[in-house]
Amino acid sequence: MNKNSKKASSLGSFITILFLCGIAIGAYYALKSPAFEKNRPKIDLPLERFWNTHKSFNVKITDDSGLKEISAYLSNNKERIKIASITLKNPVKKYDLKIKYPKIGFEYGSDNFKLTIYATDTSKWNFFRGNTALKVSRLKIDDKKPDLFSLTTSYGITRGGSALAIFKATDENLKELYIQTNFGKKFKPTPFYKEGYYAVLLAWPLKEKRFSAKVIAIDEAGNKTRARLSFFLKNKKYRTSYLQAKESFINGKITDLAEDKPEETQNLTPTQKLRFINEIYRTQNDALIKRYASKVDHNRFDEFNLKPFYPLKNGKVVGSFGDHRYYYYKNRENIISESYHLGIDLASIKMDNILITNPGVVVFANYNGIYGNSLIIYHGLGLYTVYGHCSTLLKSRGDVVKGGETAAKTGATGLALGDHLHFSTMVQGVFVRPAEWMDSKWIQTNITDVINTAKKMIDK
Ligand SMILES: [Zn+2]
Repeated sequence: MNKNSKKASSLGSFITILFLCGIAIGAYYALKSPAFEKNRPKIDLPLERFWNTHKSFNVKITDDSGLKEISAYLSNNKERIKIASITLKNPVKKYDLKIKYPKIGFEYGSDNFKLTIYATDTSKWNFFRGNTALKVSRLKIDDKKPDLFSLTTSYGITRGGSALAIFKATDENLKELYIQTNFGKKFKPTPFYKEGYYAVLLAWPLKEKRFSAKVIAIDEAGNKTRARLSFFLKNKKYRTSYLQAKESFINGKITDLAEDKPEETQNLTPTQKLRFINEIYRTQNDALIKRYASKVDHNRFDEFNLKPFYPLKNGKVVGSFGDHRYYYYKNRENIISESYHLGIDLASIKMDNILITNPGVVVFANYNGIYGNSLIIYHGLGLYTVYGHCSTLLKSRGDVVKGGETAAKTGATGLALGDHLHFSTMVQGVFVRPAEWMDSKWIQTNITDVINTAKKMIDK
């Protein structure tokens, strides 16, 4: 071999190596490219779920490169039926696969089915076949609706007031249980006395013209039962009053409270300030109370023995629940603000002892705007009491209060002109008439008797 041919040969092998390297690099980048991605589609299906075969349900399938093919099978011990076979001409990133019981069903009935879903994407991986995902789920068949039965209720409910209902709800796979009202509020029941029984305190909000309530029970398979709770409805009239907004009131209490919210009130005129405090700030303060006074406990109970609340020993009622108060400035035609009074006002001597008649837990003990220094106490079954305008709070959040204990002293903090107690009662976050919870006869008829009647019916 001469010198030249040796040179040519080494040049040839160099070109060959370069060429192979080129292919390798090209292949490497091609395989690294999105067209060759190795991620399987995602099938959003739990390992196990309940199914009412009369209803379809959707399974979400996703893939970043796009879905090409989807198939699904339903099987029991003896048969296997193809329920879906989809080829997507235009690949999609998300597909909702509807699972329906096959029209020509199974020859042998079964309580359990196996659902198998395959999904393949458009990737060129796997020699251009794409990535295939497989997911299997056990479907437990539940075509039975929950059973609902209303046991006893308070005879009636008054607008602005409370009522008790006791009912039975049974289902092997009960998922949700609540009371739906015509005004959007859902009340949560508490397990009562024995397995399958529930009790719930309901409230008809002051501003709602109508009241209706039904129990809704939904099981894991989506089977739903509704049962109406019937009450005799008493539409109580509440008072409207007109109060003069005096200069001394605006320059005193209103101006003081406006300092809680300097940014919102600094550029307001005196009457605008009154309106801000009486409406916007009041709404915020009420919202805080509702937030703290809306929880219900989930532990089963069998006694709810309440004494009529009377927080001030010699307190006189100086303001009633539900008053629609209009404020006018200078003359009666010049209304500058309005609000509803959502509690009662009790007055006796200055810095009088505030007694918590029934045992409970302090859920809030702090300053709350127009209500001043306040206590919120939970008594069970969704019932709360609120004590406002206190001079001193003797309890802290989390403290347990015994029945008859002194928990605070009256005062004039917040939007109060003289020393008095603002007392509110709440049922699952709804302000209700304190008069009912301060009346031993009302408590006996509407709460105690209802509970005792229900127990007798359950034990029978
Ligand atoms: Zn008040």
